[in-house]
This record gives sequence, C-alpha cells and structure tokens, in this order.
Amino acid sequence: MSLRVYDHLTRTKRPFAPVRPGRVGMYVCGLTVQDQPHLGHMYAFVACDMVRRYLEHLGYEVTHVQNFTDIDDKIIERARREGSTVAAVAERNMTAYHEAAAALRIEPAHHYPRVTEHVPDIVRFVGRLLEKGFAYAAGGDVYFRVRSWTGYGQLSGRDVDAMRSGVRIAIGDHKEDPLDFALWKAAPDHEPGWPSPWGRGRPGWHIECSAMAARYLGDHFDFHGGGRDLLFPHHENELAQSRCATGQPFVNHWLHNGLLCLGKSKMSKSDGNFLSMDELLRSHPAAVLRFFLLNAHFRSQLDFSEERLREATAGFDRLQRGARRLLAVLAAIDAGRDRPLPAGLASAAGGALAEAAASRRRRFFAAMDDDFNSGAAIGELFGLVRDLNQYLAETGGRGLDAGPLGAVRDLLVEADGILGIFPQGLGGLTETRSPAPEAVAALCEAREQARARRDWAGADSLRAQIREIGWEVIDTPGGPRLSPRPPAP
Ligand SMILES: [Zn+2]
Repeated sequence: MSLRVYDHLTRTKRPFAPVRPGRVGMYVCGLTVQDQPHLGHMYAFVACDMVRRYLEHLGYEVTHVQNFTDIDDKIIERARREGSTVAAVAERNMTAYHEAAAALRIEPAHHYPRVTEHVPDIVRFVGRLLEKGFAYAAGGDVYFRVRSWTGYGQLSGRDVDAMRSGVRIAIGDHKEDPLDFALWKAAPDHEPGWPSPWGRGRPGWHIECSAMAARYLGDHFDFHGGGRDLLFPHHENELAQSRCATGQPFVNHWLHNGLLCLGKSKMSKSDGNFLSMDELLRSHPAAVLRFFLLNAHFRSQLDFSEERLREATAGFDRLQRGARRLLAVLAAIDAGRDRPLPAGLASAAGGALAEAAASRRRRFFAAMDDDFNSGAAIGELFGLVRDLNQYLAETGGRGLDAGPLGAVRDLLVEADGILGIFPQGLGGLTETRSPAPEAVAALCEAREQARARRDWAGADSLRAQIREIGWEVIDTPGGPRLSPRPPAP
C-alpha cells in the first residue's frame, strides 16, 4: 500500500503524488501572536509535525514553512493596553510558541516568515491581483472581488449566492460587494503602517499566507495545514487569491485538523475558553499532551477534559512500561544473564511473536498510509505491547528469542521516529527506569549468599525486594534465574 491523502476539493482520498519529485512543500498557518499559544493551536502544529515526520520517513525532502502573524488589530490593541510596543508583544509570544513547540517535540520549521518582514512581497502580490482585475482599490483600501472567480466557495462547500443574503456592508467600507474582503487596509497615522501604491496601510489577514507561501514554496505546492476553523474564510480566501494571482492550483492537500473542544465548545482565545500551554505544561508532562493529540485521526474532533487526559496518561504509561520491559529483557540477553536460544532456533512463542511483530508493522504503516491516521497506528503499538506481554508470560522470561524481541524493538524505534512519543527516544526509557538490571542482579546475588548462610528470612526479604522492582527470581537446578514479572492485567 502507498500513501493516500484526503483531498478537500474532491472530498476523496487519493494516492499522494508530490508536485516536485522527491520533494514536499508544506505551509502551516501559524500563530497570530497577540497572546501565547493554547492547546487548540498546538493540535494543528503537532498534527503537521507528525505528517512531516512521516513524509520524511518515506524519503521525501520536506520544506516546512510556518508563518507568524506579527501585526494585526488585536496585537496593536494588546500593545496599547499593556503600554508596550507591537514588536515587544509579538516577540514575547513568538518565544512562548517556540518553548511550547520544543516541549511538544515539534521539529522546527525551515522558515518562520513574519508579516512585518514581508510587506514588499505582499504589496507585489496584491498588485498582481489588481492587474488581472480580481481586485480593486477604493479609499486607500484594496479588496478582492469575490464574484470575479467562479471557484469561490468550493473549498468550504459554500454557495456564494446563499452567503450574500447574510452579509451587510459596514458603514465606512468601500466595498463594491459585501462578500469582498480586504487585501490591504489604510492605516491611520498613529498606527503601524507601510507605504504602498494605494497609500499608507497594512495587509489584510489572508493575503500574507498567499504571498509568503509563494515566496518560499512556489505557486503550487503539496500540503497546507491549519485548524478546521481556518477553512472559512481564511483558507477559502487564500485559495481564491493564489489561484487568481498565479493561475496555478495552489495546494494539492489541505491538512485541516479537527477542533479541540473544552467542555461543549471549541477551545478559543476570543471566547476565553482555553488552556494556555504555559499552564498545561506546569501540570502535565509534555509527552502525555503530545500523545493525547496524536492518539486519534488528526481530522477528528478532540474533546479535552481531565478525564480524557487521565486516559491518555494511562495509555501512554502502558506503552512506556511495555517498552521498558522489552529493553530490560534485551539488556538481560546482552549481559548474558539470560541465555537466548541459538540463532536459527525459535520457540513456539518466539515464532508467534515474530509473526505478530511483522503483522503489527504492516498495520502500523497501513494506518499511516491512510491519510496519516496516527490514532490507528498507535493502536497497533498497544497491540504490540500486548503481544510482547503474552510472549513473556508464556516463556516466563526464560530461553528468550533475541530475533523476535529485536523485531519488536525495531518497530518501536521506527514508530517513535514518526510519532515522536517517547521524550528521549526509546533508548531514553532505560535511563528513567529506577532499578537498573545490574541492581536486580546484585540483589539476586545477595539472596544467593543469604541462602548459603541458611538465612531464609533474609533470602525471602530479598526476593520480595526483587519482586517489588518488577522482577521474579526463579530457582532452577542450574541456579537462580531472573525474569521480568508479567505485567499486571
Ligand atoms: Zn494562513
């Protein structure tokens, strides 16, 4: 199977074919930095990070561009209220974004274009639309003429005539038609503004993404990410601007992640219904938050609550425990504490584990190939941990099969590269395990000495200690053997 991706314009999944062989261009609508990011924002960025990692895993060279809207009415208002400057408010919140992104293990974008650094690109882009008759200047503003492009409304599934009845022209507007939207707005002297052929002003919100995407990715590229709430009007308008200015298809796939809901409504800054990342990261491990965001298909709605987060914590712990148990067993084989079966031989349980690992791997990649379904892919990892637990229960952790256990480890490492769920990678898990296998071996040795002294109470107490840290000591004619304890059901 190969990668299939949902296509918004045709509403179907189709095989992925890059615009340029071997390369992928991905533009993600970034943060408007009047405030620090909340978890709803980060859902989009984590989803796009997973998509990017998967595409890189498939061998594509991905160029990831994510903008910062660092000038708009809300940032100006924020700076005024704080008695600060627009630049200071923007810098502070961009830093907050980068901190949250690093905590959530989001790979840095290749470019973070800011509106204030791309005004000439934006002015040129508006100029192209004016030249072609898709826009008009009026009273120092420039508007996009919605009815000049018949494709308008297709992306979000809206009918222009039906929309019209609900829209009124605001007083002071210079629009020909209430549906038209601003590409450039005149700015009063006391507010930030830039010179343009139409007078001093600022770019409208939508035009920045069309202009900056074209600057870094060309007129036609592969992926465009952002929350579902950006579908209309933002992405509809971006598409209209770009199609009309360039005559190219703009993007092949829109990566609209579902909404993140808190209580009954969407997590939203403007409604005051949100959890800032700052707050969340103080009370929850970043790894659990990332796991929570990825443990579903990214296009689906996520309901956030303490209950859901507890479930995510329990699920994440289950995966981590499974991975640690595996690493401990492999370490025991490496250290010669367990004598594995000779190469070429496998126990019945080992054969079953090898088959299970191969089938989990196929299904993991089938899920990722199905429009990046990370939730279903994670489901296969849970299955893999169950397979491993069953194997350890059946073998009692003795006469282990190094090959099949290695296949389980390889799949976990590969999956972690794509999903980024283990904070320090799979190897990092051994370091956080409190008792090192060496410590277990030392306790076992101490117990042997106690037994030799016929100190049965001491030996029993040492056995209990070993058990407490997750291992079982089994007395055999050949001496004691250590095995990881089967997990609690
Ligand atoms: Zn955008």
